[in-house]
Amino acid sequence: MHHSLHTLTFDNRFARLTDDFHTRVQPTSLPDPYLISYSPAAADLLALNPAVFDRPDTLQILAGNQTLPAMQPLAMLYAGHQFGHYVPQLGDGRALLLGEVCTAGQHWAWHLKGAGITPYSRHADGRAVLRSSIREYLASEALAGLGIPTTRALSLVGSPQLVYREQPETAATVLRLAPSFVRFGNFEIFYYRQQSQQLKTLADYVIRHDYPALAGQPQPYLALLQAVITRTADLIAAWQLVGFAHGVLNTDNMSILGLTLDYGPYGFLDRYDPDFICNHTDQTGRYAFSAQPGIGLWNLHCLAQALLPLLDPEPDAAAEQARAALQTYEPRLQHRYAAGMQHKLGLATHQADDATLSANLLTLLHTQQVDYTCFFRQLSYLTQAQMQQADTPVQQLCREPAACTVWLTRYRQRLQAEHSDDTSRQARMQQHNPKYILRNYLAQQAISQAEQGDFSLINRLLAVLTSPCAEHPTEDTLASLPPAWAGEITVSCSS
Ligand code: AMP
Ligand code: MG
Repeated sequence: MHHSLHTLTFDNRFARLTDDFHTRVQPTSLPDPYLISYSPAAADLLALNPAVFDRPDTLQILAGNQTLPAMQPLAMLYAGHQFGHYVPQLGDGRALLLGEVCTAGQHWAWHLKGAGITPYSRHADGRAVLRSSIREYLASEALAGLGIPTTRALSLVGSPQLVYREQPETAATVLRLAPSFVRFGNFEIFYYRQQSQQLKTLADYVIRHDYPALAGQPQPYLALLQAVITRTADLIAAWQLVGFAHGVLNTDNMSILGLTLDYGPYGFLDRYDPDFICNHTDQTGRYAFSAQPGIGLWNLHCLAQALLPLLDPEPDAAAEQARAALQTYEPRLQHRYAAGMQHKLGLATHQADDATLSANLLTLLHTQQVDYTCFFRQLSYLTQAQMQQADTPVQQLCREPAACTVWLTRYRQRLQAEHSDDTSRQARMQQHNPKYILRNYLAQQAISQAEQGDFSLINRLLAVLTSPCAEHPTEDTLASLPPAWAGEITVSCSS
């Protein structure tokens, strides 16, 4: 069935919580909005008829100028640890939960970023600039295309309204979708305020709606903590496998559903570099690429701390339960990472030396300054016979091709040990090694062109990133190595 906006069924369950959890706010209108792009894949999730995006009233809703009668817009209240320090109150300062849609048995909260000032805006303007909105829009759909849990982006709308950052820029909105936008920080705020009733209400709410299988468990709150630990481990393993750095892993940007949330100064690896810091503001590298697994655990400690009052009335017993649950994080993440690496390498079996083979590969990629995505994709094109040659496209990606040949020889031996069949292995590898990722320089080109009024690159990128493992032969240039100027792009928290 294909819906129009007016036939959607809303079930605003977060709005039914008391005003301890949110503040009702209407979006602030944005002058002369224009639709830049919508995501057909996200529209499909809502069973929306694509024709709705041609309608002027749709544009007004996506801009925050009108709301549907069934919507109950609100700003969610949360706190969070930012760069290691607790900030007692944050909240939706420039995004609003417009309402929640039930469709085809699924639940999609609509969260409009850039919707104007809220009681939680502090001294900021409640707006999002075009630049960062393009980045959030494309990255949301790119991670979804890669099969990585994420909030989705339905639409990107611009406006001539000026917004002042380092220089004047124009405003934009992104309509984000997720089953829930509850963050670790939504729990932290009630823990630090010692509002245990609200803490329990929120935990019960999340269990009832998002983890219904846990409701009947003997210790549902411990089960909730465990489920979030597992999902977070899986999420971060997926990021590490694809070379994604979030950039601002504060606890207010950590989803209780284990979704990638709040895209700011994120980055995908070009050359493999564990020390990669995508956020220019992050001088100590707290959120560097290779720090993400550890930061995930640090953030889970914050969540566990906030849930302690629910785990057990006896503080020592509660702490012990949390500790035991947190201990499952690292093995889970490592297991998922190792399994993902097996897939990337096209290995059908597990063998004792596989961890060494992949560790040696990462060392090679790092020391030879090899492009992470291109390497795996090119590797997937090689037959075992070609691996014996000295000058394949894989070796050409390395500074010293001979160093690569050593690894390729071992890899080929490993494939032979399991009698690997080239055709099926290559097909499998191409399903696990994307050809297209949202490199910073591509996002930057899309932004520069959009600032000149040309949105075509945004839509071309959206199309390839939605199925990043497919070939898209006419779009080969979007899969090429980054140009020299790519290394000079800086992104920061300013957005
Ligand atoms: P972020 O670092 O983007 O996750 O945001 C941290 C906090 O700052 C959140 O409470 C945001 O809502 C708020 N915030 C960020 N930018 C703005 C803005 N331009 N206007 C109002 N609030 C903002
Ligand atoms: Mg945030």
